[in-house]
Amino acid sequence: MTETTQQLTAVVTGAASIRGIGRATARRLASDGWAVAIVDLDGDAAAAAAAELAEEFGVPALGLGADVTDEASVDAAVSRIEAELPPVGGLANIAGITSPVPFFETTLAEWNRVMAINATGTYLTTKRVAAGMVARGYGRIVNMSSVSAQRGGGVFGKVPYSAAKAAILGFTRALARELGPTGVTVNAVTPGVVDTDIRVGATNPELEAKLAADVPLGRQGTPQDIAALFAFLLSHDAGYITGATYDINGGSHIN
Ligand code: NAD
Repeated sequence: MTETTQQLTAVVTGAASIRGIGRATARRLASDGWAVAIVDLDGDAAAAAAAELAEEFGVPALGLGADVTDEASVDAAVSRIEAELPPVGGLANIAGITSPVPFFETTLAEWNRVMAINATGTYLTTKRVAAGMVARGYGRIVNMSSVSAQRGGGVFGKVPYSAAKAAILGFTRALARELGPTGVTVNAVTPGVVDTDIRVGATNPELEAKLAADVPLGRQGTPQDIAALFAFLLSHDAGYITGATYDINGGSHIN
């Protein structure tokens, strides 16, 4: 994790859902020795996930309910994390939702909801957490974008989702430039289709099979595939990488 023996905390948003990428990332980070803070809309599931990690890996872990679109809610959660866990050295902004609504059927409310959770949530959480990182002169921030930002949808999410995930790429690059001199790195991850429950209620086995068939590696990604990349970018070893976008899509989008 770091060159020193000091244990650091990784904050992972959107890490409560059982089959989700955030949960897998929190698990991977705990297994790498991080103290882990899980921040999710579902506070009960976040607390249960944290208890599970503490039990399995013997690391400090805290699971808190918070809405990443609400500044006061984020502030309250991060204040507790800073008070109760080791210094925060990593932030994985993973909370997000998708939206398969065609453009002319989108409402302003839908646009705002998708932008708020994906883009504004990343902004609010980063702003609150990065202040401590800058003060300590060390930090790793990794933001969840999507191949939809690069391809213009074409997987599942449509215009608001692609726009929100593209906003995260610009956010990442500009913040990397600004925070570089402070010892804090900022990177983005752009997964292709991953087998989670994010599309639940809006998909079917035929669509899922088609999504996998479009991938040169012949399968959807797993949450563990993506968690491994987050773990690397959050690690001490990734210290010379900033402002980068990491594709992880089984070859479905090759630049
Ligand atoms: P998921 O639905 O399993 O997990 C999303 C998590 O975010 C849930 O635990 C949910 O409670 C939490 N969340 C939602 N709104 C929140 C809010 N306002 N405040 C705090 N937490 C909130 O989905 P997933 O597939 O694991 O997706 C995780 C991230 O990965 C998302 O940002 C998604 O856009 C991105 N992503 C997913 C895929 C994919 O195919 N699954 C591909 C590319 C990118």
